[in-house]
Amino acid sequence: MKGLFGRTIFASGLDAVLLRDAAVVVAFHRVQERAEPDDGLTIGVDLFERYCRFFRRHFRVVPLREIVEKLERGERLKRELALTFDDGYRDNFEVAAPVLERLSLPAAFFLVTRWIGTDFVPWWDRERGARHPWMDWDQVRALHGKGFDVGAHTRTHADLGRVAGVEAEGEIAGARLDLERELAAPVDLFAYPYGGAGHLSDANREAVRAAGFRCCCSVLGGVNATGQSPFHLRRVPISPWYESPGQFGFELALGRSVLAE
Ligand SMILES: [Zn+2]
Repeated sequence: MKGLFGRTIFASGLDAVLLRDAAVVVAFHRVQERAEPDDGLTIGVDLFERYCRFFRRHFRVVPLREIVEKLERGERLKRELALTFDDGYRDNFEVAAPVLERLSLPAAFFLVTRWIGTDFVPWWDRERGARHPWMDWDQVRALHGKGFDVGAHTRTHADLGRVAGVEAEGEIAGARLDLERELAAPVDLFAYPYGGAGHLSDANREAVRAAGFRCCCSVLGGVNATGQSPFHLRRVPISPWYESPGQFGFELALGRSVLAE
């Protein structure tokens, strides 16, 4: 029902008013051939492709850095949408990237640098008895070589609301060093782990800026308005709980994608 209503809103152009002067950044984790019904971090590749087509039809899909640059210059946002992926799962390279390439869509991949190329299992997968491999550095370089952006998501998925000082700097500036060494290219996009309001202290947001990054992404939901700081960039997590891209659009247009802060 909501999906149908969402499609109607988008089809009628009402969304053009609701989302005027705004940019949307969406966050994915895993894209696989099949998603388990109770897995909130994985979306099936068919649904992923439907999202991509929905984005392309209703937004101007741009690289994340284009939104960052507009915010830096104080320019008006005009219905841009950027795709991002968190953590560095191998299916991003094997399953998601081929769809993005086929549809000519840009995206940014935020990596936990010390997990790339390892068989480390993070607590949220271990808890479910699941194991999802990470990309290796050759795959990361291949993504970068295809023109996708690669950004930092700390070294070990640190909760930047809890760690401070030297440890936080290692996680933030260290992740940038790791990526720049492996890619032999500048890296200036950052998304903080967990992404909630309590997962980034003010001091660590400053440390992100001081480390040479140009943005800091949350997953607080909501849209980004002209004039806001790129260090408070909001992303909407695309959850498999959305019935359809139409429902996602509906919630977004009505301001209901914003998480409680
Ligand atoms: Zn993450």
